[in-house]
Amino acid sequence: MDIGRRAFNQGLAGAIAAGAMGRSAVAAPAYRGPNVVIVRFGGGVRRTETIADRTTYSPYFLNVLAKRGTLIPNLTIAQLQDVDTSHAEGTLNILTGRYRAYEKVGAQGLAPLLEPSEPTLFEALRKSFDIPAHQALLINGEDRPQEEYLTYGGHKHFGVSFRSEVVSLFRYKLHKFRRILEDNKASEDVLADARNQLDELTAYDFRSSARRSSAAMDRFWDNWRNQYGDTGLRNPRGDRLLTELAVKAMRELKPRLMMINYQDPDYVHWGNASHYTRAIAIIDQGLKRLVETADSEPAYRGQTVFVIVPDCGRDANPLMSVPYQHHFNSRSAHEIFALLLGPGISAGKVLDKPVDQTSLAATVGAVMGFPMRSAEGRVLSELLT
Ligand SMILES: [Zn+2]
Repeated sequence: MDIGRRAFNQGLAGAIAAGAMGRSAVAAPAYRGPNVVIVRFGGGVRRTETIADRTTYSPYFLNVLAKRGTLIPNLTIAQLQDVDTSHAEGTLNILTGRYRAYEKVGAQGLAPLLEPSEPTLFEALRKSFDIPAHQALLINGEDRPQEEYLTYGGHKHFGVSFRSEVVSLFRYKLHKFRRILEDNKASEDVLADARNQLDELTAYDFRSSARRSSAAMDRFWDNWRNQYGDTGLRNPRGDRLLTELAVKAMRELKPRLMMINYQDPDYVHWGNASHYTRAIAIIDQGLKRLVETADSEPAYRGQTVFVIVPDCGRDANPLMSVPYQHHFNSRSAHEIFALLLGPGISAGKVLDKPVDQTSLAATVGAVMGFPMRSAEGRVLSELLT
């Protein structure tokens, strides 16, 4: 029996045992399966600039990484009533394995605040196995505090006690201002500023999930602060920052499941095509760094599965005054791709048939050995060895 299915069956047995005996009496079993790193090739990208040979801006991804795994060139987001091809929506399709598994609970400017209404991969994993929150990590962009809410949903059997931790500049700022106030050594100006900024940041945090902290996360952010200082000018920005945070998290927190939400191709909304193509190249470099880190760190080497997938595609209409949008439900906004690689995944293979974006959650569940019962998409068993 292959590793993926064996782990799946062991996970099911563990979950059934835990359910039958009551979670309060018996702790969930320790996790012994592979690590999984989900990379959201995000901010919406089209096939043309990524997996098309002659027009790609991600040559490492297409020419090097794809050979190590199974490329799915025909992954799609289904055309359904009320299914928007956008960032939070696509991310939740990936994390829940369903469409429309979210409720709009508010808005920040134009961006909706979506709360998952079905369990995310993080919650399902932590319900099946004894994994601390800081080893189920979401790496988020600094200007998207709305994505802070993707970590857990409001459904009654899962929810906050199985949430993931978030690593983002937003979280770092919360930590930094708390520390400045605790230390109480700075000038009155600096303390007043820290108080104001902390109030402002916590106002974003409508579920108060960022108010709690853990010793592991505090240590992580203390190290970050020692390395980069308080000015915010020394650390990398944008998607390069996400790579830096993810690599540091792999070394210090050793997450078993981690999702990195790249986003910078989305700056094309402001109308400049080179912002889009340059951002794809930066994600490509980020992928190289992440994979090299996984290949060299003892906790990851030979035991890490990567799942790389966009949140959504983009329009292909050259007549638009601002091209490359994704909110108009055009065909190419639904046309994306995925690459899976690592132990238990067929290498050098192209799965050349239509596959749904919602299949990835069930497949990650199978690889890690826990059931994604609420997922609509199927397990992609044809790419498991
Ligand atoms: Zn967008």
